[in-house]
Amino acid sequence: MPTPLPAPYLVALSPSAVDLLGLAPARLADADYLATMVGNSVPDSSLPLAAVYSGHQFGVWAGQLGDGRAILLGDIATAQGPMELQWKGAGLTPYSRMGDGRAVLRSSIREFLCSEAMDALGIPSSRALSVAGSDQGVMRETVETSAVVLRLAPSFVRFGSFEHWFYKNRPEQLKILADYVIDRFYPDLRAEANPYQALLAEVTRRTAHMIAHWQAVGFMHGVMNTDNMSILGQTLDYGPFGFMEAFDSQHICNHTDQQGRYSYANQPQVGHWNCYALGQALLPLIGEVEAAQEALDVYQGAFAAKISELLHAKLGLSSELDGDQALFDAMFSLMHENHVDFTLFFRRLGGLQLDNPAADEPLRDLFIDRPAFDAWAVSYRERLRQQDGGDAERKAAMDAVNPKYVLRNYLAQVAIEKAQKKDFTEVARLLSVLRRPFDEQPEHEHYAALPPDWASHLEVSCSS
Ligand code: AMP
Ligand code: MG
Repeated sequence: MPTPLPAPYLVALSPSAVDLLGLAPARLADADYLATMVGNSVPDSSLPLAAVYSGHQFGVWAGQLGDGRAILLGDIATAQGPMELQWKGAGLTPYSRMGDGRAVLRSSIREFLCSEAMDALGIPSSRALSVAGSDQGVMRETVETSAVVLRLAPSFVRFGSFEHWFYKNRPEQLKILADYVIDRFYPDLRAEANPYQALLAEVTRRTAHMIAHWQAVGFMHGVMNTDNMSILGQTLDYGPFGFMEAFDSQHICNHTDQQGRYSYANQPQVGHWNCYALGQALLPLIGEVEAAQEALDVYQGAFAAKISELLHAKLGLSSELDGDQALFDAMFSLMHENHVDFTLFFRRLGGLQLDNPAADEPLRDLFIDRPAFDAWAVSYRERLRQQDGGDAERKAAMDAVNPKYVLRNYLAQVAIEKAQKKDFTEVARLLSVLRRPFDEQPEHEHYAALPPDWASHLEVSCSS
């Protein structure tokens, strides 16, 4: 059962999640709604539970983890199928280990905003309905106040849920879990000769696609441990994540990750490694090592096809031609050498006019080495001339895939600092901007700007 949170107050609600759940907007301010959002009141139809799982953390077997501060309320029917609701930060569970079962306001606002922002970017993700706070203090590096996020996903089963039963040597539990996941989320796989192999192949494919999406928007998860990998291929467990600003393929967003295991450049490979950990756990059900290997081999092709599709769309290229990879490679090296802001680059690239290099100025301004940019722009224009379609049409297509607004760390930080002083307006404003990431929103232009100087000292860590 959740532990009551003293004197809770609502920090933010996601209108789109309210819609999805079919909640009555007029009642959302009612005290009983808030009580349910933080776990102070448990609906009669709910049988709360915390799930056990294990996992590999930073490449090392960590043993049993489990929902140390997340509690499932149950599920609810929506237009997107049944959605599970989970309180995060609602107190001690049998799996809390050394933790206090709570989450701080800072990390709760980050999870709330980012899950809703990722969904709006079209990237598979868990969602969040609400974040509510309390003045109850919790100890981290300093004393912070606590909060509860009510989050949603069709399932919170993780790769680590399977690893748990494998490493406990409990094949009958492993089978119950795999059968549940197949029957509920992958029913088509029942028709396959080896449904467990098919499950591994499908999860591998979805994971590769999810990570291709991350790479294409410059999202870094920060803690890609196998206990944070969803069996549905959705982004899950937002902690020390970051969006790439000045491009550096080796960038590490999590201050705790000193080795850079989860750097931007490593994410695709780590995704594959995590699928291997899942494959190992499913092996008793799959049978042959070769069959598991075959399923895992889906990864490279699925990732390569998806990232190519996404990059072509980002550059406004309507078909794939030989030589495109060289164009992309040259672009990323140039971005790296010039520390070019990832989001601004792609957005401004959409404004490039085929026959008017003078209009390149805002884009060109992002580069220190202007002649190097000009040289790349020559090859990009040559490539564009190999397809039909005008500037306006290409810009519209590119603007629909290159976001103008992403959750830069400093934007989250500003909203958090205001919320810590009980001004919740900025969280709501930022959410509404991030829910329309591809729209121009001239009144919110400053949310698309480069981070201010003070932001270069911002650090995010596993502390949450
Ligand atoms: P994370 O790095 O947030 O994915 O957490 C890893 C594991 O630690 C999971 O089992 C979490 O439930 C658990 N955990 C993290 N923070 C706390 C906390 N404050 N209290 C209890 N368990 C926690
Ligand atoms: Mg986690």
